[in-house]
Amino acid sequence: MSNLQQVSPAIDGARGGSLIIIGSGPGGYRAADYAAKNGLQVTVIEAQEAGGTCLNCGCIPTKSLCHDASLVGKRSLSEAIERKQQVTGQLRQGVEMLMSQPSITFVRGKASFKDTHTIVVGQEEFTADNIIIATGSSAKMLPIEGTGLPHVVTSTELLDVSTVPGRLCIVGAGVIGMEFASVFNAFGSQVTVVEYLKECLPATDSDLAKRLRKSLEKRGVEFFMQSAVKKVTPEGVVFERKGKEQTVEADLVLMATGRKPNIEGLNLEGIGIEFDRTGIKVHPESMQTSQPNIYAIGDVNGKMMLAHAATFQGFRAVNHILGRADRICLDIVPSAVFTTPEVAGVGLTEDQCKENSMEYACKKGYYRANGKALAMEESEGMVKILTDVSGKIIGCHVLGAHASDMVQEVASLMNLNITVSQLADIIHIHPTLSEVIQDTARA
Ligand code: FAD
Repeated sequence: MSNLQQVSPAIDGARGGSLIIIGSGPGGYRAADYAAKNGLQVTVIEAQEAGGTCLNCGCIPTKSLCHDASLVGKRSLSEAIERKQQVTGQLRQGVEMLMSQPSITFVRGKASFKDTHTIVVGQEEFTADNIIIATGSSAKMLPIEGTGLPHVVTSTELLDVSTVPGRLCIVGAGVIGMEFASVFNAFGSQVTVVEYLKECLPATDSDLAKRLRKSLEKRGVEFFMQSAVKKVTPEGVVFERKGKEQTVEADLVLMATGRKPNIEGLNLEGIGIEFDRTGIKVHPESMQTSQPNIYAIGDVNGKMMLAHAATFQGFRAVNHILGRADRICLDIVPSAVFTTPEVAGVGLTEDQCKENSMEYACKKGYYRANGKALAMEESEGMVKILTDVSGKIIGCHVLGAHASDMVQEVASLMNLNITVSQLADIIHIHPTLSEVIQDTARA
């Protein structure tokens, strides 16, 4: 039986109090900075580099490579890897500066719970009124033969290869698999993607996911969908498709088969914190775990594995500790896949509306009719805006150049409960890609 109840905060922030944060990713370091600026004495414990997965081997290095991959012919992979190190190094210094402010103590080491107020790091113990677990996630491997072979890597190792692999096989067509497929295709690898499901990017609007797959296929990426990987051999990847066994030969194999929460070694069982293989159970409003003075934010709670979700869950947890209400809408979380072309979305997809037998309307628009898109030679793209029966916007999904920036506008409007006809009346700058959003709303 779950005893996850929202309980009043253990301390009154106005009077100060102490907080330990385990992990310094975008969940942990932003929460630490916010808590410190609001009067809490904060101790941050980090086992590896400041900045977490996002800064060191996730969002930032991949986006640096995605950018360089778009400059085809202008930058080699080794130059791109070097630039990526500079970008992450610069940002890491920024996080380290933040962590050196007077109200924050930054401790290096692996944390484990002794009791609900005490954390052990090596020989040292730290106590606090409240604790936030922000330990993130790690790459998950399929339980199949051959994943320990030297040419099998996760996204972390692939970010540091110095030469372009001739033949790259990617197992998994989720966000990470698709971004790397797009990048290494641009750098000249022969990329093959093997995926168990029918379509790539299962959380994305299926129309847009299909269009993205077709677009990558046109550029030479080969996809084997509905294919179950059986094993990896020194020659490549063996999978079963339509009852037949097939092999993709590969020099390098990326396992992009999901991520698992980092809970090992925390001693969660010992202090009665509920969790399962998807993550630590939290109250959806406060981020409290089954121990009311302990919170879990970001990838480790498995709710939404995105950097900005981690950050805002952290703000919510700190606000709860401070006894402060906020207007953060944790169920409106835009997301993007930084392939070429980009895909981004917020709110419900058309597939979800259909699955839930909802009454909805869907307006569609296309980049090909937009002046700026044509001027930029970026005419491949599509927008979908979904509304409920009252006309309120409940979702927006975009494939095309700058999709992430386009969706952000609609995410902001969704926070204000705007209808599609109100969006249609908002003047947009001409000529911009954002006019595709407006034209879709007016359609
Ligand atoms: P993390 O960033 O994982 O940080 C957790 C920190 O906790 C780590 O530094 C770890 O060392 C530390 N830690 C773990 N256990 C302990 C312990 N016991 N003691 C002390 N410290 C500990 N998200 C996006 O929003 N946009 C993107 O474009 C994007 N791209 C991605 C690309 C890749 C290749 C990957 C892998 C991920 C990407 N993500 C992206 C996801 C994003 O990186 C995560 O959602 C985000 O980093 C989660 O933040 P977090 O604070 O929960 O954890």
